[in-house]
Amino acid sequence: MTLSSTRTPTRFGYATALSCRECGHISDLGSHHACAECFGPMEVSYDLPPLTRADIEAGPLNIWRYRDLLPVRPDIADTPNTEPGWTRLIRADQLARELGMRELWIKDERGNPTHSFKDRVVAVALAAATELGYKVLACPSTGNLANAVAAAAARAGIRSVVLVPADIEPQKIVGTAVYGGSLIAVEGSYDDANRLASELADEREDWAFVNVNVRPYYAEGSKTIGFEVAEQLGWRLPEQIVVPVASGAQLVKIDKAFRELAGLGLVAGTSCRVYGAQAAGCAPVAAAFLAGHDVVKPVRPATIAKSLAIGNPADGPYVLDVTRRTGGAVAEVTDDELVTAIGLLASTEGIFAETAGGVSLAVLRKLLAAGQLDPAAVTVIINSGDGLKTLDAVAPLIAPVTAIKASLAAFAALEHATAEPESARKAGQA
Ligand SMILES: *Cc1c(COP(=O)(O)O)cnc(C)c1O
Repeated sequence: MTLSSTRTPTRFGYATALSCRECGHISDLGSHHACAECFGPMEVSYDLPPLTRADIEAGPLNIWRYRDLLPVRPDIADTPNTEPGWTRLIRADQLARELGMRELWIKDERGNPTHSFKDRVVAVALAAATELGYKVLACPSTGNLANAVAAAAARAGIRSVVLVPADIEPQKIVGTAVYGGSLIAVEGSYDDANRLASELADEREDWAFVNVNVRPYYAEGSKTIGFEVAEQLGWRLPEQIVVPVASGAQLVKIDKAFRELAGLGLVAGTSCRVYGAQAAGCAPVAAAFLAGHDVVKPVRPATIAKSLAIGNPADGPYVLDVTRRTGGAVAEVTDDELVTAIGLLASTEGIFAETAGGVSLAVLRKLLAAGQLDPAAVTVIINSGDGLKTLDAVAPLIAPVTAIKASLAAFAALEHATAEPESARKAGQA
């Protein structure tokens, strides 16, 4: 904490209010996720103290080093939590060479406790839910959020209830159920599970649906990706960043983080072009971007990138605002292109991304080829999750494995038979 500050943090830190993103109406810090005047989404506002790089660097190696920039109590790091964040920012020189780029970095969110960036948002939502007196942690989820909510609730010693579309990946079912809590598969898409969650949130007074009734706090957690990227680049903003888009909250909050750091004078560089990445089977925001529309028309998702399969994205219009204001874009890629990109990232950098990470890289390639991204600019792409959770997606890259006898003769015979082994790298170059 900075000594020169006259501000005193409360149980929500330096957050002062919730304000409507549409009409600016101000509410106290409570459970108002929709504006009382216009039903617009609410956003946390702050009266930030002067902060130095040293203040932040003295904090723990997890998201709580940025606690003064989050709606959480000053001693949040001391309460039991999963301690997400401070994931690796990996310089990807081999991949950069492959793509003809100068400086490319991967923000690798596999390093989080349940292997996706969702642990960040859940940690902040849990902190707010606790302050607001909720007793149960709940969510509708495309899979990764379910993992993060179940784990965080287990660690905090409270009950969890998660609603997922019935067709999500088996790894994400197991990776939720293992923590205990209630896991409910809902027939239909994420948007159906989300509708049921909204109805339940109205009915169950002590249930905090992290991305519904405490959403303003939850979404703030994604700022920590932006804070880390800037700090890990040596306190400078990248020149361009590619972020996968489902609800769009992650992208919007990374931009907010960059603007807060610039506003506090903590970083070199004042702006970063932000690019959104979607899968063609669920690309309502990319479609609106291309058409020049301000509204996002909902779609029915059909893609293997299930963590991005939100047909009616809550933050879609704000993704359009951010990408247009910063000079970025929103683009879509096919399932084949995203699978190829997963293989390319794995074979050049040893990083096994989930489908959403494949979408980020595939969009990077596509926009480079189209001349919409600058190959000479400092570029970051987000791998938001772990390929081990979306194994079926990469089946097309994996040649069948043959077992041999444990003898040199058998080895030589196999080597002869498979002169040029089919590898993920080759698929990536196809
Ligand atoms: C949830 C999720 C996203 C999308 O995040 P939004 O904030 O909803 O846009 C991206 N990648 C992965 C792996 C996710 O689980």
